[in-house]
Amino acid sequence: MVPRPRPDTIVVVPTLSFAEARATVQREVQTAALHPHVETVGLASAVGRVLAQPAAADRNYPPFDRSVRDGFAVRSTDIPGTLHVIGEVRAGEVFHGHVGVGQAVEIMTGAPVPSGADCVVMVEHCTRPTTTTVATEKHLAPGTHIARLGCEARSGETVLAAGTRIDFAHISWLATTGHAEVFVYRRPRVAIIATGDEIVDVHQVPANHQIRNSNAWSIAAQVARAGGDPVVLPIARDTLEATQVLIEEGLQADLLLLSGGVSAGKYDVVEQALAAAGAGFYFDRVAIQPGQPLVFGRARGTFFFGLPGNPVSTMVTFEVFARAALELLAGCGVATLPLALARLTKPFHHKAGLTRFLPAEVRDGTATPVDWQGSGDVAALCRANAFLVADADRAEYQEGDTIPILFR
Ligand code: AMP
Ligand code: MG
Repeated sequence: MVPRPRPDTIVVVPTLSFAEARATVQREVQTAALHPHVETVGLASAVGRVLAQPAAADRNYPPFDRSVRDGFAVRSTDIPGTLHVIGEVRAGEVFHGHVGVGQAVEIMTGAPVPSGADCVVMVEHCTRPTTTTVATEKHLAPGTHIARLGCEARSGETVLAAGTRIDFAHISWLATTGHAEVFVYRRPRVAIIATGDEIVDVHQVPANHQIRNSNAWSIAAQVARAGGDPVVLPIARDTLEATQVLIEEGLQADLLLLSGGVSAGKYDVVEQALAAAGAGFYFDRVAIQPGQPLVFGRARGTFFFGLPGNPVSTMVTFEVFARAALELLAGCGVATLPLALARLTKPFHHKAGLTRFLPAEVRDGTATPVDWQGSGDVAALCRANAFLVADADRAEYQEGDTIPILFR
């Protein structure tokens, strides 16, 4: 879809469904194919970064037939029975002999299984009739308690694809395979502009009719969590000129996020200011709640979102739309929303037609909607740990029905 210029007069831009809007974001950012730059970071700073190169196995894993238990390496055809103990092998050592018929080698977890043996009997399942013998009543199949050479990864096999967001498990694999440094994509710079005449800085004591700028902070936190580098610009006052100046600066970044000023109010000038900067718009309304007046477009190559100003709307629309764009700009692949299912602890109904993301407390597989006062109620959001996702086509939910949830 080619972004449409938005003239100053109101145009009919169809309201997209949640799924259509999310697919639009992913399609447009992906097809723009903006390749992020690559840099090298030490393993200690690699968590949360996105791999720019695949990480393959530098050798077989495990590199030898490895015992996964403390016990005795034996021939499976010799047990149950009493065997002669011909030696010991610890992790970090190699037993150079051969386990013959009627013989056993005492072995520790992580040690290479000596030749001749084909299974390991756990020490808990053995007795020592004499100091030189071991007895067991166990029957074991060949291979029991042995991780075979290469069974986890073959030498040269890709285990982590480029585009992987590095978490602690990936760190473990990178350390295992000797990556003291890793090639990662540079974090996208994300400019953040809060708009509003009523907004004051966090350091200020607001007058009774003012509120502190929380959106720039929550967006910055969400950007950082999603792998971006947040750059918070000054608050834009609700004039075309002030908003335009900041948009010019914001368009220097890899992604521009604005909050507020996208509703139908007389002082909601964000779309007009973006249009003046040459923006095209993919959509400016989505059938979701909170967050209907959501703007997505591109100006001079930079994608932008005009997020609605109510704090919960801002957070929800970031999480389900802007985050998808940011992750693509960061070098990750197209992802589906990580929804889980939970059972409602009470009946629930909403007016169909909008996909709703409602604060909920999810515990032990159940979801309870949290009482809230609407999309300005951050206190209620703090009492929740997830959003339940109410289907636009379904109004009624009974107690015990499963409902998709999105953890925060
Ligand atoms: P708007 O979309 O600009 O009409 O904003 C809707 C409401 O969201 C405003 O009335 C404010 O109460 C709130 N709001 C807007 N921007 C912010 C912000 N940066 N921080 C906290 N609340 C905001
Ligand atoms: Mg406003």
